[in-house]
Amino acid sequence: MSVSTPSLPKESLPTYSEIDLNAFSHNLQQVRLKVGRHRKIIAVVKADAYGHGAVEIARTASVNGADMLGVSTVDEGGEIRKAGIGSPILVLSGCLKGDKEGIVSYNLNSVVYLYETVLSLSKEAEKAGKVVSVHIKVDTGMERIGIQPDKVREFIRAVNSLPHIKIEGILTHFAASYELDKSFTEQQIKIFKDLIDELRQDGYQIPLVHASNSAAIVNYPDSYFNAVRPGIILYGSTPFDSPSTPIAPPSKGGDEEGVFKPVMRWITEIIHLHTVPKGTGISYGRRFVTERDSIIATIPAGYADGYSRSLSNRAQVLVRGMRVPQVGTICMDMCMIDVTALRDVIIGDEVVLMGRQGYEEIRVEELASLAGTIPYEIFCSIGRRVKRVYKEG
Ligand SMILES: *Cc1c(COP(=O)(O)O)cnc(C)c1O
Repeated sequence: MSVSTPSLPKESLPTYSEIDLNAFSHNLQQVRLKVGRHRKIIAVVKADAYGHGAVEIARTASVNGADMLGVSTVDEGGEIRKAGIGSPILVLSGCLKGDKEGIVSYNLNSVVYLYETVLSLSKEAEKAGKVVSVHIKVDTGMERIGIQPDKVREFIRAVNSLPHIKIEGILTHFAASYELDKSFTEQQIKIFKDLIDELRQDGYQIPLVHASNSAAIVNYPDSYFNAVRPGIILYGSTPFDSPSTPIAPPSKGGDEEGVFKPVMRWITEIIHLHTVPKGTGISYGRRFVTERDSIIATIPAGYADGYSRSLSNRAQVLVRGMRVPQVGTICMDMCMIDVTALRDVIIGDEVVLMGRQGYEEIRVEELASLAGTIPYEIFCSIGRRVKRVYKEG
């Protein structure tokens, strides 16, 4: 087991997340099997690799067949470069205020959609004697960033005249590929495909054409073009609201093809135990009142760690392989669980907030639905103070 920086053995960490790099590689391999050898995979590692740790995940992705990495910001790209990782990195949110120096100095590729931005990037690249690769963002219905399809030709002509810019890619992003109704995504695919065909007929050959996020990789083979941008499925979760996603059930190892394995477990331990009589109010606001004489355990995980306050009195945790309820308002740094049903619980017992313990499992999807959000937000909320322990081999 290798350990994240700062190098601490997990035995010395009261609360930590355990990141299974083999599961990540497995998930990347599943994407590879789905899209084929001839397509490029842009592994999305933005937001600190969805809370899994950008550097270790980026390194694992690079050595396991990701052709490019996707980040949101220049700082995120810089962090990966400073760790010595040389893979191509695409900045998905594009070059924003104050970003051009970083894009040039870290050799990042940038999404672009405004001519003024490309012009200033070209000037910056010229100063350094470099060429910046850009990917043109087309808005086919997300209404977020991008150029309208009928303005793309004009944009390409203008960008082609800039000597320090190379058009390496063209992309679009889906607004509703995770929804059951396929009509809007099919329309977006058609708009993008027609545009690419027309550009080809006009003699514009752009090396990389990409559109698919995780949901589209699972459901829309028509949207693969020659590169794909998986995010959430690499972390073993799902973009879908419905439970029909191919994710590993807890009973199986998840080694079968097309199945994605959870990468993160989130673990803490009991730091205090006390018995209370029936009728005792627990935590801030006394929102939970014991209905029997109870054994209450305290765990050092709260909303500042990403254990959302909206989970209060709703979530369950695993102790000694059993589900027990979280009780009372979740505080900033701690919360309580009711272990009355368990025998022989002691201080130091492992408590799993997310992931497997024995035959039980708490999935990120379960926490997300209880908290009224999506797995993406649960992952991204897990705070920096939750140290990571990396498991490999
Ligand atoms: C975040 C992001 C992705 C990955 O999305 P998932 O749903 O996590 O697969 C792909 N493309 C762009 C532009 C993104 O911002």
